[in-house]
Amino acid sequence: MPQTAVDARLMRGADTPVMPEGPSIVILREAATHFAGRKVLRVAGNSTQAIERMRGRKVLAVRSWGKHFLLQFDGFGLRIHFMLFGSWRINETKTTPPRLSLGFSRGEALNFYACSVKFIEGDLDQAYDWSADVMSEAWDAAAARRKLRARPQAIAADALLDQDLFAGVGNIIKNEVLHRIRVHPESPAGALPPRKLAELVAQAREYSFDFYRWKKEFVLKKHWQVHARRTCPRDGTPLSYRKHLGLAKRRAFWCDTCQRLYGVD
Ligand SMILES: [Zn+2]
Repeated sequence: MPQTAVDARLMRGADTPVMPEGPSIVILREAATHFAGRKVLRVAGNSTQAIERMRGRKVLAVRSWGKHFLLQFDGFGLRIHFMLFGSWRINETKTTPPRLSLGFSRGEALNFYACSVKFIEGDLDQAYDWSADVMSEAWDAAAARRKLRARPQAIAADALLDQDLFAGVGNIIKNEVLHRIRVHPESPAGALPPRKLAELVAQAREYSFDFYRWKKEFVLKKHWQVHARRTCPRDGTPLSYRKHLGLAKRRAFWCDTCQRLYGVD
């Protein structure tokens, strides 16, 4: 496949109507990194925020934290959260009106759809704990283990979706990590043996990087073991499914044969 075709597809962002998870936002950040140092020439969109403040201002840095896509300007930051149905296009448009469109020189543009737009006053380094981002160089596994131990009653599925602990982890990663480490989604964090708890933290990051690599190669879905699947690839057991599991009330797929429910005798 020619390189240009790959690039175009990556710039198109989400190819499926699912909430973008951390690795997808990293791919967006990488595709948008060349806007750093460039001035916003045009601002448009149906956002109710004071988006005009970006006109004529220079993008100082293109960053991300978990599921947040971030642009740092002098004195403030722009935060884009894609929620459930948000999407983006770089140097392309969709037929629906953008929530926010930022135009640059040479006709280039960053377009965001059906997303949340917010401004963060000051420096993004003051607003974000980068060590909680599973994809970040600053990721701190020991801190995540500590935070998990401080929430013993949280079930594993909810703990993985907690953005204070695992920024960037979404529902797909949650389901896949729990299958990978053979833990039932309703096991309370406090019932996990230390080795399992360490595995959960390690795989939250490792699976996120697998997700990132597969997504860039357009082979993510075929690697799903339990998410949106019917049978366990390990043992052939029909998977259990719940539409609203845990406090997060998100879709859960798991195998009752190889994923152990800790905390019950
Ligand atoms: Zn199984």
